[in-house]
Amino acid sequence: MKIAILPGDGIGPEIIAEAIQVLQVLNDRFALGAEWELAAIGGAGFDEAGDPYPETTRRLARACDAVLLGAVGGPKWEGLEKPKRPEAGLLAIRADLGLYANYRPAKVFSQLVDQSTLKPEVIDGVDLLVVRELVSGVYFGQPRGIETVDGERRGFNTMAYTEEEVTRIARVAFSAARLRRGKVCSVDKANVLDCSELWRETVCRLHAAEFSDIELSHMYVDNAAMQLIRNPKQFDVIVTSNLFGDILSDEASMLTGSIGMLPSASIGDDHALYEPIHGSAPDIAGQDRANPLATILSVAMMLRFSLQRADLAAKVEQAVEQTLNDGVRTADLAGGTSGCRAMGAAVCTRLEALA
Ligand code: NAD
Repeated sequence: MKIAILPGDGIGPEIIAEAIQVLQVLNDRFALGAEWELAAIGGAGFDEAGDPYPETTRRLARACDAVLLGAVGGPKWEGLEKPKRPEAGLLAIRADLGLYANYRPAKVFSQLVDQSTLKPEVIDGVDLLVVRELVSGVYFGQPRGIETVDGERRGFNTMAYTEEEVTRIARVAFSAARLRRGKVCSVDKANVLDCSELWRETVCRLHAAEFSDIELSHMYVDNAAMQLIRNPKQFDVIVTSNLFGDILSDEASMLTGSIGMLPSASIGDDHALYEPIHGSAPDIAGQDRANPLATILSVAMMLRFSLQRADLAAKVEQAVEQTLNDGVRTADLAGGTSGCRAMGAAVCTRLEALA
């Protein structure tokens, strides 16, 4: 069991250090038997090797059972040409590892209901999962570009999905629902877009053939954006395309009130990458102020999906819950006073107690 750990930039190394402490406790007290090796990505990759996704990192990521990533980016590298920028490293690793399914859970911890901008009664109990298609759709469709027609410039992109691409992501969503509450809502714009019409037909076909035990519903994306605010508890798993998923998963994350709490997984047929949804937070980097819980919860997702240790994933999640119950808070959580290291240590103490 080998993990490639890519701390990245900004708060990346700080939050990853706490995730490593958690892995160490899992090894020492729960006999996880994991090994890990660190490598550079993003701005750190550029500084080290002139490439945001260095060849040594690529080899390591491909050889490991899972990748755990901190975050990339920062003002230091903003002036670089696009392919050298930290964010290019992130796109490169996703493409290189064939990570087509993005899982973004949004779970509201009852201890933090007051963090949300929505009323507690609307969000208390929210526990949903957005499954976003990550390597196709309008972000990648050809042709694309900016051209000049009759003296006027025109920008254009192509939204396209093949039946195979839709089937693949829908299968991920239905399978995830089987491990949750058994409900999938497929979000599209089939009343307007041909691409969505095929999406809907394909999802229905797979459902009838292989997943008739799952409750399937369909929603237009404009309605889904509204329903996420009006009554988010109605959702279990949402499956959608790259563009719609980009927007809806950010909207769903804000239900929970803090960006520092949300993990994610990006999964392909042979590889998987786990990372917090937030960025490198240059404004607080190096100050011991980052919330490491999104990264620690990403470790839990890795245990569940890649290392087949759902039992240990549950222990990590329980330790996080207990830490919140005990009132430990970083600054992003209602102005708490604990630092990143103290929060990590608090989780480890509670995890040890569960051994
Ligand atoms: P950000 O997520 O880094 O920060 C947004 C705000 O949230 C900041 O005020 C930050 O301090 C706060 N925040 C973020 N994570 C936090 C945590 N764990 N604990 C406490 N507070 C936290 O987004 P941004 O400011 O738009 O981007 C900063 C850099 O990160 C940019 O270079 C951007 O390109 C990059 N970025 C990287 C990723 C990634 O690595 N996956 C994702 C988004 C942005």
